[in-house]
Amino acid sequence: MKKGVRKAVIAGNWKMNKTVGETARLISEIKPLAEGAGCDVMVCVPFTDIFAALEAARGSGIKVSAQNCHWAESGAFTGEISAEMLADIGVEWTLIGHSERRQYFGETNITVQKRVRAALNAGLSVILCIGETLDEREQGITSEICALQLKIALGGVSAEEIKRIIIAYEPVWAIGTGKTATAAQAEEVCAEIRALLAKLYNTETAEASVIQYGGSMNASNADELLDKENVDGGLIGGASLKAADFGVIIKSASR
Ligand code: PEP
Repeated sequence: MKKGVRKAVIAGNWKMNKTVGETARLISEIKPLAEGAGCDVMVCVPFTDIFAALEAARGSGIKVSAQNCHWAESGAFTGEISAEMLADIGVEWTLIGHSERRQYFGETNITVQKRVRAALNAGLSVILCIGETLDEREQGITSEICALQLKIALGGVSAEEIKRIIIAYEPVWAIGTGKTATAAQAEEVCAEIRALLAKLYNTETAEASVIQYGGSMNASNADELLDKENVDGGLIGGASLKAADFGVIIKSASR
């Protein structure tokens, strides 16, 4: 299966941005840009914006995702939201393992694995984020780090379940820094991820899997990144907060 057969997914990670009113406005601006696009379009919004996002996106095909979920079904976890709670309000997707969760909130490979399991059990689909730090890249261990993160996160995930997982390769040094990986760097790691999926599952599963690049993707560099054989879309932070920029990226992925 070649790139052209996989449908690219352009997902905006809004991080801790946008009020309810701003959510409705931004989605109404994205709607015409997503209409008839040759890629899937998703917005990963703060918990407080989910209802407004679902309402604003209704009938448009724009998918709404959470940015995290807890691994327990319920219980004494003050401040947390479970996968069941998300499924209960009609959310179908969640990010898991974003580097900002790993960096600021003590997320580990093991907690990522537990959250992936919980999300799948609740019927959610997942964008699973992996990626190396600058230090790890400079030490020449990017492949090993990404393989380790991926293998642990997918521990216990069946070939059937992985159809509900998108993998986002996000080099930590490129997130929110304005430093983008070159298209060649992005392609190299995304190809390695696909090869690892073939080993862990099988070739068919690997070829069908959507692997995104994320890290300062924007209207100027999207064409080059998304042209690569193994880059099937993008997870976009900063540039997803303005409809015009996000629209250019959607166009790039639709070519
Ligand atoms: C992200 O939040 O996943 C991300 C890639 O952010 P940015 O595009 O701002 O680097």
